[in-house]
Amino acid sequence: MLLILDALAAGKARRLSSLDVIGAGPRLIAGILESLGLEYKLMRVEDFLKKGRKFSGTVLISAMTMDEPAVARALKLIDGIKIIGGPITSDLGVVRRLNLDLGIWGEGEISLREVLLRGVDPSKLKDVPNLVFRNGTTKLRYLTREEFLMFKPSVNAVKFYSTIPHYKCSRVYVEVVRSCSNFRRPKLLVSQDICRLCPSERILCPQGIPPGCGYCSIPYLYGPPKSRDEESILDEIEGLAKVGVRRIVLSGADFLEYGRDLLKNPLTDPVSPEPNLDAIDSLLSKVSYLSKKYGFYFEVENAKPSLVDEKVAKLLGKYLKNTTIHIGVETGDEKHSELIGRPCSPEESIKAIKLLKEAGLRPYAYFIHSLPEQNRRSAAKTIEAMRSVFEIGAEKITVYRFRPLPGTAFEKFKVRVDADSRKISKYAIRLNRVRKELLVGNVVKAVAAPGAYAYPLQGGPVIRLKNGKPKIGEIIEVKITDVVSDRLVEGFICGAP
Ligand code: SF4
Repeated sequence: MLLILDALAAGKARRLSSLDVIGAGPRLIAGILESLGLEYKLMRVEDFLKKGRKFSGTVLISAMTMDEPAVARALKLIDGIKIIGGPITSDLGVVRRLNLDLGIWGEGEISLREVLLRGVDPSKLKDVPNLVFRNGTTKLRYLTREEFLMFKPSVNAVKFYSTIPHYKCSRVYVEVVRSCSNFRRPKLLVSQDICRLCPSERILCPQGIPPGCGYCSIPYLYGPPKSRDEESILDEIEGLAKVGVRRIVLSGADFLEYGRDLLKNPLTDPVSPEPNLDAIDSLLSKVSYLSKKYGFYFEVENAKPSLVDEKVAKLLGKYLKNTTIHIGVETGDEKHSELIGRPCSPEESIKAIKLLKEAGLRPYAYFIHSLPEQNRRSAAKTIEAMRSVFEIGAEKITVYRFRPLPGTAFEKFKVRVDADSRKISKYAIRLNRVRKELLVGNVVKAVAAPGAYAYPLQGGPVIRLKNGKPKIGEIIEVKITDVVSDRLVEGFICGAP
């Protein structure tokens, strides 16, 4: 028996947000195990730690950089082979630091399959890509699209999520496209003279700078975008709907990359070609059909503003009215935006939010404070941009603190939280509070979650229920009565749709 430990976003094993998210990675691992006929169970790391029982056998851990404390605690209970994958291995030193048997870097499908077939003896794995040992790695490379299409996530594995998150009420992420086409480099670090000599693909940089926004590891870890086959996505969604999943997120660093790699390959330009509207239309129309047939709700995860125009917004509006969509603005200052490697200007991001709002979607805007080169002027402009997106109708403004991630251009930068950073954070809290107050008195459709809680079906803050505890997965109507915090509102059940 193997154990898949899902530590994604667990942090110190006390997740405060994203409690209703079931990521795509652990189900992909489960799919590989199923294809080899191997028995497994899957657990959230918090449940594993709560049980506190020793496990003997092979453990496959999926984690992000921030989850190292939770992983370190879990490892104390494991006696056997320990393999780790996910964004946490962008720091290759994690394998030695945590005394693991093996790490899998970037795209791990081929590597994991081979390890399961051959064992963890390094001498038998020399030709297998993306393996991280305590004292070195095999060749690190990206999958070809053909290799990528060979693997399918498990549907049944979702049923292991029966605590928090619970599969009957949580957002289950279905990967539709992997990675991001922003292969520009942050101007803060590059010499423009050398840039001019670069080949157009820009996969490798002669100056040794990882691709993408300076704070993001996605293009470096996963390479140019690759879309899944429509049929395989639809099969997975139908399977999930049949086992009782009620909320599906079509996931990817940018949904608008879907099908673009069929227009140009490798795809390393975040602007041209335009999104593949035919591929997007075809996928969304079929998912929409399944959603009506099985009664689940769906949304897309992110969109890059550089790919949003009138046509794109109209198409998304046709299938995704009243659903949320995440747009990164990050800084309000144009110069700063170029320095950090953004694929578009703040003005374009604000315009994208406006277009999507007008098309009937509910954009969430993202900003980052304490980025390298943040100064009084850029912070003031960021606050201005936050006000603009709020006035245009962005439903939520999320501000993250800059974290220097391994494998990014900014990995060696120090975080300096100053008075300007605090102003940015406080302003977001204020704006979000105003937006949430507007919810008071509204009736929203929600799905009952463990405890006396519910999640709004089409996105929004968690609702604490004042009257009763419906069965998990039951669809209810809730009247919002109070705003408790930035993340929580209260309401009472007033019916079933
Ligand atoms: S932040 Fe977004 S646009 Fe920038 S590299 Fe990452 S995924 Fe691409």
